[in-house]
Amino acid sequence: MVTADLRPTQVLVNEQAIFENIQQAQRLAPHTRIFAVVKADAYGHGLLRVARIAHLAKVSGFCVAVLEEALALRQAHFTEPILVLGIVAPELAPLAAVHDISVPVGDEAWLKAAEPLLAKADTPVLKVHLAVDSGMGRIGFRQPQAIAKAAAFADAAPHLLVEGLFTHFATADEADTQYFDQQSARFNTMLQALPKRPRFVHVANSATSLWHQKTASDMIRFGVAMYGLNPSGRALPEPYPLKPALSLVSQIVFAKQIHAGDAVSYGATYHAQQDEWIGTVPMGYADGWLRRMQGFSVLVDGQRCEIVGRVCMDQFMIRLPHEYPFGTPVVLVGTSKAATITLQDVADYASTIHYEIACNLTQRVVRRSI
Ligand code: PLP
Repeated sequence: MVTADLRPTQVLVNEQAIFENIQQAQRLAPHTRIFAVVKADAYGHGLLRVARIAHLAKVSGFCVAVLEEALALRQAHFTEPILVLGIVAPELAPLAAVHDISVPVGDEAWLKAAEPLLAKADTPVLKVHLAVDSGMGRIGFRQPQAIAKAAAFADAAPHLLVEGLFTHFATADEADTQYFDQQSARFNTMLQALPKRPRFVHVANSATSLWHQKTASDMIRFGVAMYGLNPSGRALPEPYPLKPALSLVSQIVFAKQIHAGDAVSYGATYHAQQDEWIGTVPMGYADGWLRRMQGFSVLVDGQRCEIVGRVCMDQFMIRLPHEYPFGTPVVLVGTSKAATITLQDVADYASTIHYEIACNLTQRVVRRSI
């Protein structure tokens, strides 16, 4: 996709905020390794930009979702350990091994399929993290006997090393800890089934690191909180103030006065009640600004201006309090004078979570560091 870097619509990434969010996590868990989760283009903030900041903040490694993201980090000369979180096909095991990329394994069949391929390609040892499905229902071993058998197979296999054991919590961001505690207990049973403790035993995402600090593990897979977003949305208070890194800005590129009864945008769903000033903002659903944002507001000169009419693919219209010249700044996410719109506000309006809003911002929107 072409990035529209001549257009005024831009995602601004506050590098210092990301740096400080990592430092806070390091302070809270000084003896735990922090792996920066930079999957999905670093939650829309830019993979290599965020990896560079995390490297400067001295994280211990990176987590990504797919092998291609790990390879992109290696191509950019990051030498930290990298763990892919999603299942990689056994046929790709040699490629992962050659680039020293760790992969998750959820069954013995995967190990049995990978070992001969690694042997044939004569690669370095492949580091695997055994995934435990303690209640997320996504990937991983569910029975102690099965994981013990798989670990024994890997231990005897010349090209495999069990580097880690991990699980993922389904409710770490909720006030009720019953299901969390159940998952914790199941994970500990699986850990005890292993003949020896792997180098990395890890259970913590951002929410676990913030609200379950006593849950012992060797590393934190630090994702959304690194970007300054509360993993629980509004449900739980942040133990330390997170600094949101992302803002989304644009400009009025066209403004006009319309009259009572005049309509705006597809379907003519909005009609002016009186003489009104309407501004056009060059961002639309092809940029990730969802069609259902009609009726929400953006900030112009510190004032909330309603999005009127349907959001188009590349543009939307707002009602202005009075005439503004083209080039006037528009804040979609961030602060304008005393007013602020957060990603959480956008997510609330769109009936989703801030993760989804950030990840949905497409590559057409240019990202710039501030
Ligand atoms: N660990 C795993 C296995 C994940 O799937 C994710 C994100 O989806 C994370 C860690 C990071 O989660 P968060 O962004 O909530 O910190």
